Amino acid sequence: MSALNKADPQVARIVEAERRRQSETLELIPSENHASTPVLEAMGSVLTDKYAEGSPQKRWYSGCKNVDDIEQLAIDRAKKLFGAEHANVQPHSGTTANLAVYLAALTPGRKIMGMDLAHGGHLSHGMAVNASGQFYKVVHYGVRKDTEMLDLDQIRQLALKERPDLLVTGASAYPRIVDFEGFGRIAREVGCPMLADIAHIAGLVVGGVHPHPFPHADFVMSTTHKTLRGPRGGLILCKKQWARKVDSAIFPGYQGGPFMHSIAAKAVAFFEAMSPQFTEYAKMVVRNAKTLAGQLTELGWRLVSGGTDNHLMLIDLRTRREQLTGEKAAQWLASAGIVTNKNLLPFDTRTPGVTSGIRLGTPALTTRGMGEQEMKTIAGWIDQILKSDGEQTLISKIHEGVLELCREFPVPDNPYQTAPEEIRHARNISNPRCKLQPG
Ligand SMILES: *Cc1c(COP(=O)(O)O)cnc(C)c1O
Repeated sequence: MSALNKADPQVARIVEAERRRQSETLELIPSENHASTPVLEAMGSVLTDKYAEGSPQKRWYSGCKNVDDIEQLAIDRAKKLFGAEHANVQPHSGTTANLAVYLAALTPGRKIMGMDLAHGGHLSHGMAVNASGQFYKVVHYGVRKDTEMLDLDQIRQLALKERPDLLVTGASAYPRIVDFEGFGRIAREVGCPMLADIAHIAGLVVGGVHPHPFPHADFVMSTTHKTLRGPRGGLILCKKQWARKVDSAIFPGYQGGPFMHSIAAKAVAFFEAMSPQFTEYAKMVVRNAKTLAGQLTELGWRLVSGGTDNHLMLIDLRTRREQLTGEKAAQWLASAGIVTNKNLLPFDTRTPGVTSGIRLGTPALTTRGMGEQEMKTIAGWIDQILKSDGEQTLISKIHEGVLELCREFPVPDNPYQTAPEEIRHARNISNPRCKLQPG
């Protein structure tokens, strides 16, 4: 960053502060991760200069030979990684990608059926103030009140009554396996296509620790920056018959020029995700989540649906302390260097700004090489802080422990050069992303 340092120290200082924040805190927000240095390098390349509206070999601009090569490579890798018939790697984000699927599959005014945001769904699945809720009719399904899990019989009944034109599956705060095969059966019975939104779980899907959405889904949408550990961006995969509609929904439907630097970084991330280390990583993410969830449960905290099958969990704060809110809990944890987010629980009586729950996930900590022992330590800290009513001396003491753990597990420069077990014990690896070298 020396060029930036010299030219614009003001920006450089803030970037450096963020790098430092990441290295000195425990990142438990389940939608976040640490991209590898090769991914960051591709993102920061000269490809950002190039305009390339269109698709490989069919551009509106000259000089596209190199970006054609990079986009074709990203497409080929995405198809291989997900076993897809067609891939569009241009979406700037997950939300844009979902909107593009709607544009490809539906005319405005038709009906989408997706999971309720308040039960763990995503705003792009028909939230009233999102474009998806304004351009389409929306029906929402949620989890059962008793099990806090999706009930396919209930969802089938609703689908048969409502007759949606597109069935949307996937969530941002659902700790259980999504039964894509079961959803696919419902879509076929209703006679509508199905979109599987795997934004959160894409890394688990390619790592083989979550069932695959194909061949049950007609469209699969993902982000590339969550469990997939790539650059910030989106991705659409679909069956061949939808290829042209999807491509023209992205361009010229929702976007102009693609971000070629991001597409290059996506290609790098897809390549990384094909490695055996990534499969190990995905397994470890789930194992760590189960350990963290198990330990929190043992310490007396009730988790939504009683646990987790994937990378995330939701703590029901009310079960231990009726007055405790997600807002307060997240603040206390953050002041000890434990970064989480407040989250509505299914059937929550509080507002989205306050909430009765917090959401925790293990993708970023697992990238740092942490394992089950560290999960137990962290569960203990969370328990103590939440029980103490944010007692300041306790928070300061735990913060010391957090810093020590961060020093022991620096954010790796390139997690693919070191297997998780090796990272765990590599206390002396030099890591340019981490100023805090282990002493
Ligand atoms: C994160 C997420 C998205 C959208 O991703 P952005 O890149 O933030 O727009 C879409 N769907 C689900 C289920 C998500 O969790």
